[in-house]
Amino acid sequence: PVALQGNASTFRYVRVNLLVSTVDDVVEHFQNEGYKLIKTSKTGDRSNINDALKAKSHAFMRDLDLHDLLVFPSGTDLHAHPLYLNGSIILQDKASCMPAHVVHPAAGSTALDACAAPGNKTSHMASLMGNKGNIFAFDMDRRRLDTLVKLTGDAKCQIITAQCMSFLDVDPLDPRYANVEYALLDPSCSGSGIVNRLDALVDTYICAVNNKDAEQSDGTNGEQKERLRNLAEFQTSVILHSMRFPNVKRISYSTCSIHEVENENVVSRVLKDQSEFGLAPVSDVIPTWPRRGLETAGLTKEQASCLVRTLPEDGTNGFFVACFVRQKPADIEST
Ligand code: SAM
Repeated sequence: PVALQGNASTFRYVRVNLLVSTVDDVVEHFQNEGYKLIKTSKTGDRSNINDALKAKSHAFMRDLDLHDLLVFPSGTDLHAHPLYLNGSIILQDKASCMPAHVVHPAAGSTALDACAAPGNKTSHMASLMGNKGNIFAFDMDRRRLDTLVKLTGDAKCQIITAQCMSFLDVDPLDPRYANVEYALLDPSCSGSGIVNRLDALVDTYICAVNNKDAEQSDGTNGEQKERLRNLAEFQTSVILHSMRFPNVKRISYSTCSIHEVENENVVSRVLKDQSEFGLAPVSDVIPTWPRRGLETAGLTKEQASCLVRTLPEDGTNGFFVACFVRQKPADIEST
């Protein structure tokens, strides 16, 4: 088994919970405590972010890609900070914050989170929706779903309906789900992108604790390859099932895996297995983020550019995000 060795402890990411506070208020709070805000325009070159944060003690900055994220140097411990204790900030790895931004449900709309526990991304969607609309959250693990209910309650989320069941058993034609327009899919994966640090373990609990899928793999031996193939089958079935909801129009798919078989290969197969959904354009999938998908598994250069990858050398866990959107009838005819 291979664990990613990387420099992912470079940053401490702080997500502002927009249900409790605003980014400006949180920034001001830290400044009043003596933290120095580094102007992001001065750090346009990403390779300098680490130096810029380290140059001043108690420095922090706004994230270059995600508007509700702040970046602190590694080793910044905010677990006892009042803003953490009152739910204003959530300590979440940057990569794990990408799926909610990619699917970005409109305020007042209905979304689902297929494999939701312990609920970091569910609570992030509620934050971006301003607690307006509905989120159906599914997970088949009762204990983990209980954690989701507590975590999202602590984060002041009021629009989440949690159900303990397999997403694959949810009937897409049930009238309750008639208005579902957005789906966030973050199914079990190999966890091969996880760098061993505490908040990463919390972010992607399933991939590190209590689940044999969490064992990290480089996919080189037969047993590991078989496990990756099984995971990819499951991941593909989750995506295809989400596409059966009659009004779903935007679907994010993510893993904390670095393996192509769980990432580009799954995307390629889904694109081949149906024609109603294509990939969202790069302009709508965190366009400022430089590391994109791999041109593999028959994906064109343009398709690969619509996918997001992160690696420890980016200061995050290894992660993958794709976004499917329902195509217009004219687009389907031309594919
Ligand atoms: N999105 C979560 C978050 O950000 O906090 C992490 C999700 S974790 C990677 C994957 C989850 O999928 C686990 O909680 C696991 O119990 C759940 N799961 C696995 N198979 C499932 C299924 N068939 N239906 C629903 N949930 C499932």
